[in-house]
Amino acid sequence: MTIPVTAPATGVPWPPGLVPYVSRWSAEHELPAPVVPARGGGGIAFADEQLHDRDRRGVLWVRRQANQGAGSPLFAKVHSVRQRYAMLRLRCQVCRQPADRNEQGLLWLLEDGRADRPDWPEGELTVHPPVCRGGCVEKVTERCPHLRDNWVTVRVREPLLDGILGRLYRPGRPLPVPVAKVTRLYESPDVRWVLASQLVATLTGCTVESAWAPQPSPTTAKPPGPAPSRTSAGHARRRSR
Ligand SMILES: [Zn+2]
Repeated sequence: MTIPVTAPATGVPWPPGLVPYVSRWSAEHELPAPVVPARGGGGIAFADEQLHDRDRRGVLWVRRQANQGAGSPLFAKVHSVRQRYAMLRLRCQVCRQPADRNEQGLLWLLEDGRADRPDWPEGELTVHPPVCRGGCVEKVTERCPHLRDNWVTVRVREPLLDGILGRLYRPGRPLPVPVAKVTRLYESPDVRWVLASQLVATLTGCTVESAWAPQPSPTTAKPPGPAPSRTSAGHARRRSR
């Protein structure tokens, strides 16, 4: 459900000045930082760790260059620092302006999962920051193949920034070994074994606001306007944590 994706041949390309704020650029490389066992064995650390390498919950974060606009945009990749900033400050993932908020909460754009379970997206985990009302919903739904005909906007009264996505390490000799890309809540017992690269929000207090609806001409690039919420629900399938 990655929002910034490579524009498909049939889609509307992103103009050069409209690359989403959270997208990574090709000149933004991960900085080499040897991962070593943390003192006491309770997780991972950097050999030359600095104070700012961990967040306030004590989780280690990947080091990455910040050169926004340098090289070419990698729409399928997310820049960890900008993603984290947008989540923490509740900024639009596309334009960095404050995300839209009304009495029902903040605005989120999601791939439609209402067939998964009746109460979707309540409790859903996402790495995608919220969006504004300044045209960014339309920009993304026009260009992202995952969302173009499968999106909903949701109002979220209380997003909980309670987890991370990153690279899980296992104890190894002489050094910890990366084993998988995982999503972990901060309360998970092995969260200190994860090198975080994105902040995860749990969406609570959700209200579906609008959704994609079929149009007479499926090739029309113009996105549809808000549609009534569909309430049909199929089998329950909660996203695994
Ligand atoms: Zn925006």
